[in-house]
Parts: sequence; structure tokens; C-alpha cells
Amino acid sequence: MKGFILNIRKAKNEDVIVTVLSKSIVQKYYRFYGQRHSILQIGNLINFEIQEDNKGFMPRLRKVSHIPFPWIFSNNRLLIWQSFISLFEPHLRDTRAIDSFYFNILLEKANRWHKQNPKRLAIEAYLELLEYEKRLYRSDFCYICNGILENEVGVMRAFIITHPSCIYSKSFNKNEIFRLLSSKSTIEIEDNQIDELFEIVLKGL
Ligand SMILES: [Zn+2]
Repeated sequence: MKGFILNIRKAKNEDVIVTVLSKSIVQKYYRFYGQRHSILQIGNLINFEIQEDNKGFMPRLRKVSHIPFPWIFSNNRLLIWQSFISLFEPHLRDTRAIDSFYFNILLEKANRWHKQNPKRLAIEAYLELLEYEKRLYRSDFCYICNGILENEVGVMRAFIITHPSCIYSKSFNKNEIFRLLSSKSTIEIEDNQIDELFEIVLKGL
């Protein structure tokens, strides 16, 4: 199987519990210290086999190998990738069977992570995910006070739109933000705004 490592948690001794997102499942696996390798790093894409535990405990990870991307030696790109992919573990915590959308979108972005500003790719993936989960904001009214939105808007977690004053946030141009929500492309957004939007992405899925 192939999967992205979403989380690594210490278990007893030096063992670890690894949460892996594969095409159709999000699953926690047990990994013994004796088998531990540096390839177990959040965000890595791995190939692995599963060994079921005959006492009904957590399945184990076996024969793990790392499938590298060209950008893994770029510290900056790696850090942005790890902070982005870390958002998936809390989001999918109560999920087991899963649609291939989640694996596919991560794979698609990972394959382009070295070719573009990765923060742009993360924002676009975030928007695609919000649309897939039918959570894209589509109202002309502020989420907080229900008042009509004006030219400047504030942007909350999950790109929920408000008046800037209702959430004490930075102001964004309303038309630009709504174009971003409908196109899911960051092409019209300036780099300094990309940094600000990425900070909102990091608040969570
Ligand atoms: Zn408001």
C-alpha cells in the first residue's frame, strides 16, 4: 500500500504509532523501535505492508520504504509541506474509510510542490477540499453578524467571510477573495496576501 504519514506519536518504550492516509483508509499502525527508520517523518509518502495483530491490537507497519519527491531536500518546501499535511490528522481523526479525494489531492500537489510557490498550492488544495466537503462560503453576508459585506472583508478559518471588524482581522478585497473562492486559483493574488492566506490555512481544515 501507499500512504502519506499524517502523524507520528510516541508509544511505550521507543515504539511509535503512525497515522497513514491511503487511498481508501486512514489508519493508525504500530511500529516497533527495532524497525524504526528515519523514513518515518510526517508528510512522507511511503510504500508499506500491513501485518495484522492476532490479538486484535493495532495492525503493524512492515517493509516500509520511502517514495521521495524532488523537493524533500529543500528545507523551506519541506516545512511548508509538513505544516500543511499536519492539518489532515485532526480533520480526519474520526474517519476510517475515506474517499480517494484526500490521497489524490495530496499526491497531485506533492508532485508539483517544487515547481510553484508551495503556499499557493496549499491554498488551492484547501479550497478544493472545502468545495469537496461543500463548505465553501457562498454568502454575501458576514458570517458573524449577518450584515451585508462591503468592499473589504475578513477571512476566518475555512475561508469563512466576515466584516474585517467582526473578527479583528486583516482586510482583503472582497471581489478578489470571492474570485479566489470560485476559481480556486491563486493566480490573481499577490505574494504578500498569499502569506496571509496561508496563515489562515494553518488555523485548520
Ligand atoms: Zn460582521
